[in-house]
Amino acid sequence: MSATPSIPVKARDLTRAFENGDLLLHYQPQVDVSRRWPKIVGYEALSRWPQPDGSFVPPDRFIPVAEDCGLALILDTWVIDTVCKELARVKATGASRRLGMAANVSPQQFGQRHFAQSVDDILTRTGVDPTCLTLEITERAVLDENETTLKNIYALREIGVSLALDDFGTGYSSLFHLRTLPIQEVKLDRSFVSGLPHRHRDAAIMSAPINLASELSLRVVAEGVELAQQAEWLQMNGCSLIQGFLYGRPAARI
Ligand code: C2E
Ligand code: MG
Ligand code: MG
Repeated sequence: MSATPSIPVKARDLTRAFENGDLLLHYQPQVDVSRRWPKIVGYEALSRWPQPDGSFVPPDRFIPVAEDCGLALILDTWVIDTVCKELARVKATGASRRLGMAANVSPQQFGQRHFAQSVDDILTRTGVDPTCLTLEITERAVLDENETTLKNIYALREIGVSLALDDFGTGYSSLFHLRTLPIQEVKLDRSFVSGLPHRHRDAAIMSAPINLASELSLRVVAEGVELAQQAEWLQMNGCSLIQGFLYGRPAARI
């Protein structure tokens, strides 16, 4: 699927597409390369808006519109519900009980009073083990650490759901969030991975959060890994969870 040309996304069209059930999720594998044979340990769900001509509007263009028009709150719930159903389906076919699934969540969701409860309801309804679900929050968005947000985050932790800081290193608040929130995972941004293994600055910048994550006992996932040398460098430097085109593009089926 190719991306549509950059025509502005209209909230009305997006809402209609969502209501018609036109939005889809694609799943990209996350691979543990520390073993003799790389092993898929989880997937990240990524939203897609297909168009009649076979192209699609990329999420970078429609998610901000969904956030502006209030649709993001319903969209997130749909994403979490869909990934849990998919996880339940895959596990019923005999997949590893430890297989994880990550969903991207808009920051404003955490400010909704019943968010943690609604995630708990979905997990109960689908029978998914909460420890298999990770909610990713992008580092670029501002997470307002107000009382409701913190209550939701701690309630999700209590249930067993993991929280990941996505695009780590691209925002200004990485270290602040790591200090204040119960985060289990950081995802190192693709923009740093692309310079590996040869660009010394990128290598130095990657080493710092990998070491920090290890000190704090966090999982660390490198995004956007396209080359075998990048995966090798990451593994040798302490990051063995890899996501990127090298091991699989996002696809409609797991
Ligand atoms: P993200 O969560 O950081 O997702 C990773 C993005 O990098 C995805 O782009 C994925 O297709 C792309 N990617 C993965 N591996 C490679 C690689 O090796 N090379 C290259 N060039 N790209 C790679 P995508 O699907 O276009 O999503 C962009 C962003 O949109 C996501 O970044 C996420 O922040 C947001 N997003 C996607 N789906 C959702 C959603 O359902 N809800 C919310 N709130 N945000 C979403
Ligand atoms: Mg993500
Ligand atoms: Mg990312």
